[in-house]
Amino acid sequence: MFKLKSIVIKIASEKNKTTIADRSNFDFFKASLDLYKNAARYLNIPDRIYLSLQRPERVLKVRMPVKMDSGDYLPFQGWRSQHCSWRGPLKGGIRFHPDTTRNEVIALSMLMTWKCALVDIPYGGAKGGVNLDLEALPEKYRQDKNWKNPFPYLMSKRELKNLTDNFTEKIFPIIGPKIDIPAPDVNTNSEIMGWIMNKYSSMVGYTEPSVVTGKPLGLGGSAGRDKATGQGCFITTKEAMKYLSKNRELKYGLDKATCAIQGFGNAGSVVAELLDKAGFKIVAVSDRSGAIYNARGLDIPKIADIKSKGLSVSDFKEAEKINPEELLFLPVTVLVPAALEGVITQNNAHKVQAKILAEAANGPTTPEANKILEEKGIFVIPDILANAGGVVVSYFEWVQGLEQFYWGLDQVEKELETKMRKAFNEVIATASKYNVSNRTAAFITAINRVMEAGVARGKAL
Ligand code: NAD
Repeated sequence: MFKLKSIVIKIASEKNKTTIADRSNFDFFKASLDLYKNAARYLNIPDRIYLSLQRPERVLKVRMPVKMDSGDYLPFQGWRSQHCSWRGPLKGGIRFHPDTTRNEVIALSMLMTWKCALVDIPYGGAKGGVNLDLEALPEKYRQDKNWKNPFPYLMSKRELKNLTDNFTEKIFPIIGPKIDIPAPDVNTNSEIMGWIMNKYSSMVGYTEPSVVTGKPLGLGGSAGRDKATGQGCFITTKEAMKYLSKNRELKYGLDKATCAIQGFGNAGSVVAELLDKAGFKIVAVSDRSGAIYNARGLDIPKIADIKSKGLSVSDFKEAEKINPEELLFLPVTVLVPAALEGVITQNNAHKVQAKILAEAANGPTTPEANKILEEKGIFVIPDILANAGGVVVSYFEWVQGLEQFYWGLDQVEKELETKMRKAFNEVIATASKYNVSNRTAAFITAINRVMEAGVARGKAL
C-alpha cells in the first residue's frame, strides 16, 4: 500500500516560522516576464505569439467559506492560472501557502509552460494556489489579538480535507484529464491529490485517476513520483559536476563535494538523501524552524527520521544552529534552494560562494541576482530544468493512468534519467550557441518549442 505523510504532524512542527531573506519586494510575475522577454530577444517570434505568451490564457479566482473543527467558517480564496495550452493539456501544482497571491500563481503557471517544453512533454503550464482571505475575516477574529492564522500549518486533517473538497468543486469546470491536471506543490502532497481525485470522480460519476498526478500508489500513482523532483535535481547536479570536471573547472568528484540545502520538504529532503548516498557531504540544511550546520557532514537519514516524526531539522542536536540566510553563503560545491521563490536577491547574491546552484525551488533567484551569479561564474542549473523531474514523472503517471497499465520503478527511473540528461545537454548546447547563461538558454529552448507549436496551430496569423 502507499505511504501517506501526516500533514497534521508535519505542519504542527513547522509553526515557528523564520525568515530566509527579505522577499517582501519580490515581484515574481515581473521577474518571470523579464526572463521571458530577455530570452525571446534571441528568437524570431511572431508579434501575436510574443504577446500571447506574456499573459495566461485564463485565471479563475474562487472563494470558499470552509468549515473548521470549531464549527465556524473561515473565508478562503484561491486561483487556478492556465498559461498556455498549445502543446497539450495544462499541468501544474497546487500550493497551500499563507503568502500565495494571484501574481505568484500566474508566474508559476508561466514557468510550468517553459518547464514542460524544456523537458519536451506534451503539456502547457498551469498552477493553483490557496490562501486565507484575511480581508474577509470575521470581525471576532480581527479583534482577537491572540488569534493566529491557522492556514495551513495549524489546520487539522479534516479541515484541510474540507478546504481541498471546496477548492476542487470550485475549479471543477476547468480541470480534467484532457484539460488541466493538478499535482502537489508547497504544503500539498499525495494524500491531498487523492482527495482531489475522489472529489472530481464523485462529481463526474466515475473514477478518474488521470485528473491529478502525484497520487498515492494505491489510487493509480506512479512508482517514483514522490522522489522525482529531488531525483531530477540530483541527476542534473551530477551532470553539472561531470561537465565542470571535463572543463577542468572542478578538480574533485562527488566523494569530495559538499552541499547546503534550504528547505527539507518533498524536494529538498530527497535531494539531500540522494546526494548523501552519492558521497556528498551535506553540511547544512534548513526548514521553517531554522538552519543547522556541521562541517563534518550531517547525518541525513537521522534528520529524515526526525522529520518523519513530525519534528523539525532544528530538533537534530548533532549540529550547530546557524542563521537561516547564512546557509546560502556557505563555501560549498552545491547550493540547493528548495523552499520558496525570491531568496537569492541583488542584496545577497554577491555573498553566494557555491560553485553550482541547483534550483530545486521555483524562482529562488531574482533576475538581478542571476546577473551577479553569472558574473561570479557560478554554474546555475535553472529551476525549469533542476526541478523538472516532478512533472516528468507526473507525465509518466498520467500516461500510465490513461492506459491503465503501470510501469515498474526501474522503467520510471530510466526514462526520467534519459529526459533529464537530454534537457541538460540541450541547455548546455544552447548556452554555447547563443553565448548566454544557462537560464537564458533554458528559456530559449523552451520558448522556441512553444512558439513552434503556436505557429503550427496558426496562432501567428
Ligand atoms: P514542501 O512544502 O514539501 O517543502 C518546503 C520546505 O521549505 C519545508 O521544509 C519548509 O519547512 C521549508 N521552508 C519554508 N519556508 C522556509 C523558510 N522561511 N526558511 C527555510 N525553509 C523554509 O514543498 P516542496 O514540494 O518541497 O516545494 C519546495 C519548492 O520546490 C517550491 O518552490 C516548489 O514550487 C518547488 N517544486 C516542488 C515540486 C514537487 O514535486 N514537490 C516540483 C517542482 C518544484
